[in-house]
Amino acid sequence: MSKNYGPEYVRAIAPYQAGKPIAEVAREFGLDEEAIVKLASNENPFGVPPSAVQAMTAAAADLGRYPDANGFDLKGALSKRYDVPAEWITLGNGSNDILEIAAHAFVERGQSVVYSQYSFAVYALATQGVGARHIVVPAKDYGHDLPAMLAAIQEDTRLVFIANPNNPTGTFIPAADIQAFLDKVPAGVVVVLDEAYNEFLAEENQFESAEWVKKYPNLLVSRTFSKAYGLAGLRVGFGIAQPALTDLMNRIRQPFNVNSMAQAAAIAALNDKAFLKQSATNNAAGYQQFTEAFDKLGLQYVPSYGNFVLVKVGNDLAAGARVNLALLKQGVIVRPVGNYGLPEWLRISIGLPQENAVLIAALTKALAQ
Ligand SMILES: *Cc1c(COP(=O)(O)O)cnc(C)c1O
Repeated sequence: MSKNYGPEYVRAIAPYQAGKPIAEVAREFGLDEEAIVKLASNENPFGVPPSAVQAMTAAAADLGRYPDANGFDLKGALSKRYDVPAEWITLGNGSNDILEIAAHAFVERGQSVVYSQYSFAVYALATQGVGARHIVVPAKDYGHDLPAMLAAIQEDTRLVFIANPNNPTGTFIPAADIQAFLDKVPAGVVVVLDEAYNEFLAEENQFESAEWVKKYPNLLVSRTFSKAYGLAGLRVGFGIAQPALTDLMNRIRQPFNVNSMAQAAAIAALNDKAFLKQSATNNAAGYQQFTEAFDKLGLQYVPSYGNFVLVKVGNDLAAGARVNLALLKQGVIVRPVGNYGLPEWLRISIGLPQENAVLIAALTKALAQ
């Protein structure tokens, strides 16, 4: 008998399932890498902004040195953009890092964390990673049921995760509902508002959550450069919160968690308004392209506010896996979401018009089989 290493709560973790890399699908299915369309990880179909490439090339000359552990320039740019003091910002190796740091900084083993059914998989991982108790609140219309989440908070709850828009369902919570929630949450409970897809929201849905941080000392807003800014491979995200939270997070954070290239690229991307606009415009058009096709195919989907759509591809529990396989054979990678308890559904990222067309043709064929 081999010995069981580590605590039981670590052994119980179900590892994160990432989207399949293009090279792996090419190998497995004997396909040409060039011909593969990947719409699986909510990446920016325009790739990395040229402005960021330029900044990285310049930063490369200095890679012999450690990065700025305090991220002075990037925090300065973010501080200006969001009108908060630089000391209120925590940089993360992707915003996943921010979510992890929050769990480590604010939750003790045995205490509880509240999040919604069908919300981002990392909430469960971060909770389990510190040996905390999960309180998973049933979703309402595939989105967060904030009144139920409020009611679910226990004496020992230290953290609540809210994704807005949510991944993998794409649902959106209006500003008034979140504020009503923040007004009632006990002061000792930290609320993480994860806004990874914020930049894709139409103007009428935008609100400045960074402003709320000034009013709510228990609010941590989390943002990322991975989606609309096109820097998923670099791993940069950040949190905004008052010093009472930020100070603790900075003790847990690894000193050099965001590398020099990433810091330089993030500043360039943050200032590249044209790239951001291009991404949002393409996304809105692609959403229309997808939903028109799904309507024609008679497929149910959850109205999405992100850069992806959750679509129901059959009524049996094997539907998602079956259609996913049929798509892979045609060189199209999407995300099965059985691990989220949604085995009849697929999550499909919005790509360039031509990529979307390939997906629609492949899906039509897969459903006819
Ligand atoms: C993609 C995503 C993130 C961001 O992940 P990074 O670590 O910043 O790449 C965070 N939250 C949600 C809900 C996401 O979908």
